[in-house]
Amino acid sequence: MLKNNLGYPRIGSRRELKKACEAYWAGKISQTELLETGRQIRLHNWQLQQQAGIDLIPSNDFSLYDHVLDLSLTVGAIPARYQEILNANPQNNSLDVYFAMARGYQKEGLDIKALEMTKWYDTNYHYLVPEFTKNQTFSLSSDKIFNEFDEAKSAGILTKPVLLGPVSYLLLGKEKEADFHRLELLPRLLSVYYDIIERLTQQGAVWIQFDEPCLALDLSYKEKDALRTAYGTIRTRFPQLKIMLATYFDGLRDNLLVASLLPVCTLHVDLVRFPSQFENLLTAIHEPMSLSLGVVDGRNIWKNDYTRSLTFIQKAIDKLGEARVMIAPSCSLLHTPCDLELEKDETRLPSEIKQWMAFAKQKLQEINDLYLIATQGNDAKWAQNKADIESRRRSPLIHKPHVKQRIDALSEADTQRKSPFSTRQHLQKAFLQLPTFPTTTIGSFPQTDAIRQLRARYKSGEISPQHYEEIIENHTKEAIKWQEEIGLDVLVHGEFERNDMVEYFGELLEGYAFTQNGWVQSYGSRCVKPPIIYGDIERPHPMTVRWATYAQSLTSKPVKGMLTGPITILQWSFVRDDQARSETMFQLALAIRDEVLDLEKAGIRIIQIDEAALREGLPLRKSDRQAYLDHSVKAFRVASSAVADQTQIHTHMCYSEFNDIIESIAEMDADVITIETSRSQMELLEAFYTFNYPNEIGPGVYDIHSPRVPSVEEMVQLLEKALAVLPADHLWVNPDCGLKTRRWPETERALKNMVQAAQHVRETI
Ligand code: GLN
Ligand code: ZN
Repeated sequence: MLKNNLGYPRIGSRRELKKACEAYWAGKISQTELLETGRQIRLHNWQLQQQAGIDLIPSNDFSLYDHVLDLSLTVGAIPARYQEILNANPQNNSLDVYFAMARGYQKEGLDIKALEMTKWYDTNYHYLVPEFTKNQTFSLSSDKIFNEFDEAKSAGILTKPVLLGPVSYLLLGKEKEADFHRLELLPRLLSVYYDIIERLTQQGAVWIQFDEPCLALDLSYKEKDALRTAYGTIRTRFPQLKIMLATYFDGLRDNLLVASLLPVCTLHVDLVRFPSQFENLLTAIHEPMSLSLGVVDGRNIWKNDYTRSLTFIQKAIDKLGEARVMIAPSCSLLHTPCDLELEKDETRLPSEIKQWMAFAKQKLQEINDLYLIATQGNDAKWAQNKADIESRRRSPLIHKPHVKQRIDALSEADTQRKSPFSTRQHLQKAFLQLPTFPTTTIGSFPQTDAIRQLRARYKSGEISPQHYEEIIENHTKEAIKWQEEIGLDVLVHGEFERNDMVEYFGELLEGYAFTQNGWVQSYGSRCVKPPIIYGDIERPHPMTVRWATYAQSLTSKPVKGMLTGPITILQWSFVRDDQARSETMFQLALAIRDEVLDLEKAGIRIIQIDEAALREGLPLRKSDRQAYLDHSVKAFRVASSAVADQTQIHTHMCYSEFNDIIESIAEMDADVITIETSRSQMELLEAFYTFNYPNEIGPGVYDIHSPRVPSVEEMVQLLEKALAVLPADHLWVNPDCGLKTRRWPETERALKNMVQAAQHVRETI
């Protein structure tokens, strides 16, 4: 029975790779130094896995930026626009091309856009989308995978190179020309895979892992057929090769038959996400195929429940025999933080909670433990694990009966505003006295270095709470004064006190813990440190009332209260695995509901509940989506419905496509929704128009992702486009998203123009 790992975090346990990349981009270190950092991380990771007793240690799971981009370079799928980089400067090499594809290139008179970036399945990791043309050719164009294999080999470790499979790779890309489908490129792409496999086997590789996460999606007949072709031909050409086919992030479900009939040696399956496929799998796979059991959660930070995992392992051994069973994490460990041992701050992560957790390094140990228990009956390890699991199951830190009772007591009435929108709209117009086309912003104002430093100094205890609050108040005061001066209608306090739209709330809620080093790669050198929901959620004190009321006390214009919604808080945290996600979402919803009521009581007339992550939480399989949307809508309604009719509820969603979720958006019944639309030239509004969306909308009139200042005319034009499809008394005027990443000079100019654009439309309509 082999111990199999699918991938290890590549950022380094102290984010060494992030620091090296950023230093390299800033011209502070050389290419050699950057590559040396990468080499050290790889070596460290391999040795760690070897020491943990892993038999199949992956290589080529490392990447300087993104593994999909690595593959594009390896197979030579480099769009023509990047060729110029090599000509622009004789010193430029393939690494410059690589980073240009990742980040764009604005030097030496060139201005070349980066590849598009998008989410890697349902994770918070983002990959660079391959671009394909009709006459796309592929050729072996990078030695990365070979070099890394050799590198490990000279350290005495025979690795299992990992490659994203050809079908998933093509499906993750996009056609850049009409009249063809990217799957038609499969034969051409496969010939490069043959070259790769050929060379790897010459180097001594015995196993190769092909990741085909597309097997967790709804697949068409054509897509399934592509998988059969790909692995059929690879098998014919390389009869000796040990092919591991890895699937993860969901069950195989209706793809089980296809997968189990592919001529591969080992099928890896995710038994954490979809345990119920296990029995069917045992029946479906036939000699000599073996099964890699993904029992250790690669997407979360909880200790493995050995008793549960051993049930799978034992059953698999009974049915298939030890030699046809492997123990593995559910997916690559890329999505978990590196090392729990680095967490030493008792106030952020108390040891009682820490003992329930495992990061990547600890998960390797778990795989080894499971092996030892299954093969040698190591009862001491099992007993210890049982004790830890039991301590979590019973801990009063986690379980609060009164929170559970509140959820159970939720009634239909708790999810309903008092009156329908049409009634509320009248009352709100009378109460708020806003002009037509009211102007507002999405919440945050520029987070300057001074503000970040202030927060850091406050956190480290260097400055007193009084001093801290005084300075934040000053920033808020200036922001209010400034918003009044330029003539915005609905003001915001500016979010100067917030580090992040989820962590801020996490820190004020009970049931949350935090790490110092629990970083996970989001894209390139960007890492996130999701807070951890370990227990029942409660809001011991108001969280935002102090700042909202302070801001409101400075002006007679309405100040919007600013909250993050339950769906988004859940999506951007590590969550409990001991209850349904929806249960946790409702607990968060109740906490936000309490906050909403406190804001209302304190005289706040408009409250915005941000749900930036609603869409990204959408399950991979269509059949799961409605249930998710239903829970999400209900959670939002629980959070927002308790207020009086004249209190106006806003929500904000950035960068979403709405077509397939518009019905649920409407069911959320926010009085106003602000969305991203400027980059798509208001195209996104079509969904709202077609659906006859009943409530008010603020389509973003300018893109906050660039420092570019849009002109008045430009914004007027966008508003006119919106007016062509929406009633005038439903339209708001606002930017696409919060302004925290911008600087003040461009923000001032852009917002002044925006106010003028609204005035212009008021006068001319
Ligand atoms: N209110 C938040 C802000 O303005 C919203 C951020 C977001 O949608 N991502 O920063
Ligand atoms: Zn946004």
